[in-house]
Amino acid sequence: MLIDTYGRVATDLRVSLTDRCNLRCTYCMPEEGLQWLAKPDLLTDDEIVRLVRIAVTRLGVEEVRFTGGEPLLRPGLVSIIERCAALEPRPRLSLTTNGIGLKRTARALKDAGLDRVNVSLDTLRPDVFKTLTRRDRHRDVLEGLEAARAAGLTPVKVNTVLMPGLNDDEAPDLLAWAVENDYELRFIEQMPLDAQHGWKREGMITAGDILASLRTRFDLTAEGTDERGSAPAERWLVDGGPHRVGVIASVTRPFCSACDRTRLTADGQVRTCLFATEETDLRAALRAEGDAAATDDEIARIWKRAMWGKKAGSGLDDPAFLQPARPMSAIGG
Ligand code: SAM
Ligand code: SF4
Repeated sequence: MLIDTYGRVATDLRVSLTDRCNLRCTYCMPEEGLQWLAKPDLLTDDEIVRLVRIAVTRLGVEEVRFTGGEPLLRPGLVSIIERCAALEPRPRLSLTTNGIGLKRTARALKDAGLDRVNVSLDTLRPDVFKTLTRRDRHRDVLEGLEAARAAGLTPVKVNTVLMPGLNDDEAPDLLAWAVENDYELRFIEQMPLDAQHGWKREGMITAGDILASLRTRFDLTAEGTDERGSAPAERWLVDGGPHRVGVIASVTRPFCSACDRTRLTADGQVRTCLFATEETDLRAALRAEGDAAATDDEIARIWKRAMWGKKAGSGLDDPAFLQPARPMSAIGG
């Protein structure tokens, strides 16, 4: 098991497949993009599948989520999912995506064994979308969402970040739209993980703000956390149900004591936390040759040792908090 000194067990693996992206969300990336990882530094498809196999068969991982950057930009995505779905025991498989290109690939992803998707969409207004993401692709995302639902990648969840002065007035409209379209909406508090270091606690839209805004139009009944005790979304029934809305309040209501995550970057580093400042290299072990070649057991041992050192919390409330060197897009949100 991937257990840490606080007794938490990681069963949920987030795998970043690329740090590249076709959007430039202001809370994530600068307009000019970032210095992308060089191709030889990225894990190959075989290396990714090997690490997922080790996680599932030796380390107790039950759920694997592929993310990025934009995971739909990874050429081998369908085949990676197919190979992970064939593992025994079979992990639950999901994908976090900005939805661009999902219209074309949703069916193939479902057929390969993908169970669910989270699609990120922050606004219903094409002009605001263009300002927020610096790209004119609103329609592509809406079409991607529809394709995901039609392909049975359900429940389709929608991730929304509210930004002051841009889309913070849209919470009730977004929820009405989500209910009508059978999507499960989850608001995510903006976190200090943008490459530009522009996050400010004072300006951010909090879970409290979001709930107050939703309650101007909807009756919300607290439902506790997600179906699994450790999932970060606190959920509410909307107007008595059956639809729900979630809020992931990583900043104002942190859930670190129940965290069940382990993360793998696209260049093969284990991260114990989104906010970790240290990483553990698995790629070197994967690529060692000859006498130094690592067995699955040895790689599992390095991974376990990394998780054992997981810190108690994100440190966000510590005055000495330091934003990690890697931005969200390179960690895999
Ligand atoms: N490109 C894909 C997408 O946007 O869904 C996957 C990667 S993205 C980094 C994963 C999630 O992180 C998205 O839902 C995005 O809105 C969220 N995200 C990015 N930067 C964030 C930030 N600074 N604070 C909170 N959420 C953020
Ligand atoms: Fe790309 Fe996702 Fe970051 Fe937006 S949040 S820039 S879609 S990686």
